[in-house]
Amino acid sequence: MAEWPPNTTRFPMDAESGFFLCTHCRNHLAPLNDCVGHIAWPGTAPGYLCRIVVNVRPDHFSTRWFRYHLPVVYIRCKGCNRAIGEKIHVCDPPTNDVYEGNYVLHSDHVLYWDGHDLRDAASHEPVYDNSSP
Ligand SMILES: [Zn+2]
Repeated sequence: MAEWPPNTTRFPMDAESGFFLCTHCRNHLAPLNDCVGHIAWPGTAPGYLCRIVVNVRPDHFSTRWFRYHLPVVYIRCKGCNRAIGEKIHVCDPPTNDVYEGNYVLHSDHVLYWDGHDLRDAASHEPVYDNSSP
């Protein structure tokens, strides 16, 4: 399997834990228990709103654009450098919107481990392949 940078966070793949992974390279991304919920996200596949996302690199703030009038930048997987979601910045002044300061993972770019199976985040169908995450 891929070589990960030394400071890459890995979640235990056991029955007690659930987490999101990158569909493309199986990089570990976010614990399921910190996921706020499944949300409609216009222009892309539905997303998962998460408070904690690891092993990603946000684009520079100068490249921000707006979604629901909130400033966002793409976040890129550190494993494969693909844009797999967005980071939502806090507005100035803050609106206390639930989205502010959190991340959206696009369901067509992530899988999740539910404690038993690796599943497609969009269809929730089990994913069977030979590459261990
Ligand atoms: Zn990746």
